[in-house]
Amino acid sequence: MAYIQFLGAAGTVTGSKHLISTSSNFNGQDGFQVLVDCGMFQGPKEWRERNWQPTPIPAHTIDVVILTHAHLDHCGWIPRLVKEGFKGAIYATSATIDLCGIILPDSGHLQEEDAEFYNKIKKSKHNPALPLYTLEEAEGCLQYFKPVKVGETTQLSPDISFRFVRAAHILGSCMAEITLNTNGQTRNLLFTGDIGRVRDVTIAPGKVVHSGPQEGENADVLVMESTYGNRLHPDDDPRPALAAAIRKTVERGGSIVVPAFAVERTQKFIFMIKELMESGQIPRIPVYADSPMAIKAVEIYLKHSEEYSEEAKRLINQYGSPLHWDGFTFASTSQESKKINDSHYPSIIISSSGMVTGGRIQHHLAQRLPDPRNSVIFIGFQAPGTRGATIKSGAPEVKIYGELVPIRAQILAFEQFSDHADPSELLQWMRTFQNQPRTTYLVHGEPAASSQLRDTITKELGWNVQAAQWMQKVELS
Ligand SMILES: [Zn+2]
Repeated sequence: MAYIQFLGAAGTVTGSKHLISTSSNFNGQDGFQVLVDCGMFQGPKEWRERNWQPTPIPAHTIDVVILTHAHLDHCGWIPRLVKEGFKGAIYATSATIDLCGIILPDSGHLQEEDAEFYNKIKKSKHNPALPLYTLEEAEGCLQYFKPVKVGETTQLSPDISFRFVRAAHILGSCMAEITLNTNGQTRNLLFTGDIGRVRDVTIAPGKVVHSGPQEGENADVLVMESTYGNRLHPDDDPRPALAAAIRKTVERGGSIVVPAFAVERTQKFIFMIKELMESGQIPRIPVYADSPMAIKAVEIYLKHSEEYSEEAKRLINQYGSPLHWDGFTFASTSQESKKINDSHYPSIIISSSGMVTGGRIQHHLAQRLPDPRNSVIFIGFQAPGTRGATIKSGAPEVKIYGELVPIRAQILAFEQFSDHADPSELLQWMRTFQNQPRTTYLVHGEPAASSQLRDTITKELGWNVQAAQWMQKVELS
């Protein structure tokens, strides 16, 4: 007997955690337990509160974690798992491990800041409010990570082995092919994690990491993400419109402010700006990447050049490290960050957080939003309720640092930068399978997205598809 239990990212897009157990009694008390991903719940309170619940089987009985990639909704609960007693190995690619080395401590630091904030305003029902884990605890869990090469088979127990294949989502991202040998039966399970854009650079331009997840898969059970299950990405190239918006802003003497996540999205945008400058489509104006995490992420990107797209390879070969590109400044300290406010000539300022929920982007927007000569360009998803969503919605003002800031700058948004495959791309990838999986479980999607994708796959491919439910156990017979 073996089963899968969906402990997160079922009915929502965060908290990815899927347990595979070879327990004979369906309750994880014996056998071998593998956790695929260990993400943090984010967003609405109802989900975030689940971060405080222990795993349904004690953490110390989980033998190993297989981590698909370094996004917080896939890795952010690892320090908590370790805090609760997990002592096994965490398998990931070396690029994922390097990224976790900056992302997890930063997450611990934010948890501590949040707890401090709630204690100051005495708004927490927990007295005192505690961090989910601290920076130190996040650093402490890094010792459990073990690098695994893409394509290499790792034997986890006499019954279970796995290998990583490319997911093309972000640097280091992989899908996990898991082979289970129990009762003389072999079953292939494929956990996709997040799947990157399926087509080539003309559809996902500016991608630093190569496009296209591994084709020709063979799985009895497929556990697949469904983030964009009910939305298609625009299929036009964003570069001409982006270049035109930048040129117009510069002509009227304004600057361009870009809220972007420090990892992946910032690098992708910097590469695109460099290309537009070198090809003469936009003027050579100063570019500021204002985030210490973005600098560390660039260093990690440079270390893993095997994952570059042709475009990124060409730019690095020709111009070297983005950290030394002429006219590009990476601000590390807060003094360097504040100095950007003194720049009164047109410039491009890229900073985080990507949804303006915190971070240095706030002071750049507080300064530049009231001036109609400036532009704000969104290149990422803005979750409802965030400051980013308010600004993007065309609101006349937004509250930053407790003050209402009038929005007179031009607001633009590009939806082409997504790192997730959309339904047509997922179908294109699924059509390359060698077989038809017995069951496909859809995870990592809002209910409407998962159910629409389920219907699309059933109609187009005739596959047996189900939307996974939170805490649901499915037997692998
Ligand atoms: Zn992801």
